Amino acid sequence: MPLTPPQRARYARQLALPEIGESGQIRLAAARILIVGAGGLGSPAAYYLAAAGIGTLGLADDDVVEASNLQRQILHGTADIGRPKIESAAQRLQALNPELRVRPHRERFDAAGAPQMLAGYDFVIDGTDNFAAKFQIADACLEAGKAYSHAGVNRFLGQTMTVLPGRSACYRCLFESPPPPPAAPEAPQGPLGALPGVIGAIQATEAIKYVLGIGKLLLDRILVYDAMELQVRIVAVHRRNGCVCNRPGGFHASAPKVI
Ligand SMILES: [Zn+2]
Repeated sequence: MPLTPPQRARYARQLALPEIGESGQIRLAAARILIVGAGGLGSPAAYYLAAAGIGTLGLADDDVVEASNLQRQILHGTADIGRPKIESAAQRLQALNPELRVRPHRERFDAAGAPQMLAGYDFVIDGTDNFAAKFQIADACLEAGKAYSHAGVNRFLGQTMTVLPGRSACYRCLFESPPPPPAAPEAPQGPLGALPGVIGAIQATEAIKYVLGIGKLLLDRILVYDAMELQVRIVAVHRRNGCVCNRPGGFHASAPKVI
């Protein structure tokens, strides 16, 4: 389907980029991206992807909006406190771009439901805030062969890497297994709200590059952003011998239990 005149107007700045152009814009409209977590990372990632003209965004989250979210989770507003995050997120994203299709998944991402959820998407963005979920997403994307963007933020520090299962280093190449849970619950500190804004925008950029097949993805490298010192480091990550992504017999033969 060629672009309509309103689409040409809306996406004029992207159409003017030879790396995107009309054929790229049509590819973006056909793309389906799943965002797990409609919070600090998922908000900016979803907002920029909706703005860019991604056709379908899946949102997986089972939380409701709390006042303490609003300092960083820019998809939600004061009037949304108490609403399911996927509802307020969908409303905000469709106000930005009415052509966007939002698929709500009001559920926590887990190993049992993952294959079915992942099946309908081309790329996955990990916008979760805990190690257990990050390992579940890493393992499920590896098993399903889905490209995805990992990210995490804490205090003033953020990190992100992109994974093409079987072709680049995976999250378990970096961290073999989840760290032990803390002995006592710890009160969260931060993050500074603009920090997941930076990292989530990088995740959106990676998703767009992946869909378009342009540029150099953040593969076999992890980007670490220290907002306090304003330092960006990109550290090589090697495929680890014996990692689940890198064993004879493949991932299925050695699927580890996730805590
Ligand atoms: Zn690995």
